[in-house]
Order: sequence, then structure tokens, then C-alpha cells
Amino acid sequence: MSQENILLDVQHLKTYFPIRGGVMRKAVGHVHAVEDVSFQIREQETFGLVGESGCGKSTTGRSILRLIEPTGGQVLFDGTDLCTLSREQLRLKRRDMQLIFQDPYASLNPRMTVHKLLEEPLLTHFHLSPKEREEQIQWIAQAVGITAEHLERYPHQFSGGQRQRIAIARALICKPRFVVADEPVSALDVSIQSQILNLLMGLQQDLKLSYLFISHDLNVVRHISNRVGVMYLGRLVETGSTEDVYRNPLHPYTKALLSAIPKRDPSEEKERIHLEGDVPSPADPPSGCAFHDRCPHCMGICKEQPPQTRELEPGHRVACHLYNP
Ligand code: SF4
Repeated sequence: MSQENILLDVQHLKTYFPIRGGVMRKAVGHVHAVEDVSFQIREQETFGLVGESGCGKSTTGRSILRLIEPTGGQVLFDGTDLCTLSREQLRLKRRDMQLIFQDPYASLNPRMTVHKLLEEPLLTHFHLSPKEREEQIQWIAQAVGITAEHLERYPHQFSGGQRQRIAIARALICKPRFVVADEPVSALDVSIQSQILNLLMGLQQDLKLSYLFISHDLNVVRHISNRVGVMYLGRLVETGSTEDVYRNPLHPYTKALLSAIPKRDPSEEKERIHLEGDVPSPADPPSGCAFHDRCPHCMGICKEQPPQTRELEPGHRVACHLYNP
């Protein structure tokens, strides 16, 4: 991938959670929630992160923003390693990096009106006059489709789709450069999903945003992403342009995931690949390739050695022994 216009450069990110046991609650092991994850996001690009639930997608997003402290690795945001910033330095960077949650209701204070919810981030991050704050609130409300009348209501008075519009407005009112959108449409009806996706894409153009878009829904990710990363058990097993990954998936796990989604074009329909067993525990991942006990192509080496990530075509990378020379 060209190094031009890279806004976010994640290198060898690791996040482990201690497993505590015994009377003293000592750490007796670790859950490897994110294991050696590397990828980049360019200015105004959407990078989609896909995989089954529990594969580490959300932990990756939160570790990048340091809402969860990473165990290791680097997160370069516009050249600054976020992992080395003090709490105060990080607070100053926060307005450039925001998070949109799956459940907007949980992220919106039910005792605040929409107006107060939108005003709060401005009070936290800027020294604006009341008039300037009001202008910002009116601007973002209009951008996401919230009326003046809505501004005086409370979150419970809205539908799920409207609440997500409010959450998006709150995340974007400080004009961030980078947004982690964590399953932002998963809780919504399909008809509302496309409205919110179109809103996010329109705002990306207008505000020149970069997105890390996290979803288990491969159709949604295909719709919105320029590039895609596929995660399995905390590891990134394949990355590439959306077109390359969906047209020519390389990793057996990606092939299985894509075989399970209905195709818009029946000529693209392929035989469904059924995976054996469940996702193993990240507290006790399999040796070698973490996918080996579910992989239909497992070889002897797969049980012993983790595969290296290789670039097989420009920008299309895969971690699988099938492609090792
Ligand atoms: Fe399957 Fe081996 Fe490739 Fe892992 S490394 S995905 S087990 S073929």
C-alpha cells in the first residue's frame, strides 16, 4: 500500500486481558483479544473490519482510541504514537477521534435534551461563545437531519434510527478526522440501515472523515468500505481492497464467511462452505494457525507454525501457509 495520505497506522497492536483466579485474584493467564494486528487507514478512507462476534473487532477499535489500554504495539495517528501520550495529551487529541456505538441509547444520557447532548462536547473541547456554540449545534443538526423541535426532546422520545442520528451528530460536532463506527447499524431495521449508511457516507465526503467501520455484516461492510480486514480470534488474517477481497478471497476463513452471504448477482453464487466447530477460546488459542482446527485445508505445518502475512497482489495480504513458497 502506498504510504501517501496515511492518517492511521496501526502496527503490531496487542491487547491482552488478565484472567484472574484464586483468593488473591492473581493473573493466572491472559485472553489474547487482539494479537499482532497491523493495518493503515488513509485520509477520507473507510476501512471495514469484519469477523464473527468475539473475534476482537471492537477491542481493536477501542484499543486504537485507548479507551482500552493496548498491551503492545503502535498506533500512529497523523504521525503521533497515541500509545505514548499522557492522559492530558490524549484528551487534547480526543476531539480528532470519535466513537459511534451500536446502541445509541446506551451512549446518550437520558436526562439530557438533544441540545445539551450536542453542546457538551463543544464545552469540553473548545472555548466558544454561546453564539458560536449555537451555530455549531444548528449546523450539525441540519447535517444529520435533526429539526429545531427535536433539539428540545430527550433520547427516549426518538426511534432507534433517529437516536443513531443524534449519536452521530454528537460524535461529529467537534469535526473529528477519524471515527470508529462500531456496528453502527446492527441494531436497526434494514430499511433504516441504508439511510444511516448513506448519511455516514455523505458526512464523510463533507467533513473529509476517515472511518474504521466495524461490523459482522459482510454486505454492510462491502457497501461502505474502500478496504477490508478480516479478523479471526484476535488476528487479522486477510486485508485488501473491498473489490479484491470480495471478488477473490484468499484465506479459507474469508472464503467461508463470504460463501454464507446471499449474492445480489446469482452468477456469483458459490457452494456454501460449512465450518466445523466453534471459535476457540482466545484464552487458549490453538497452536500454529489459530484457524487450523476448523480449516478444511489444514496441513501438518498449520498445527505447528503461525503463518506469516504475505502480500500476494498489490495491497492484498493474507496469513495462510497455503500461500507460502
Ligand atoms: Fe488453513 Fe493452514 Fe491456512 Fe490456517 S494456515 S488457514 S490451517 S491452510
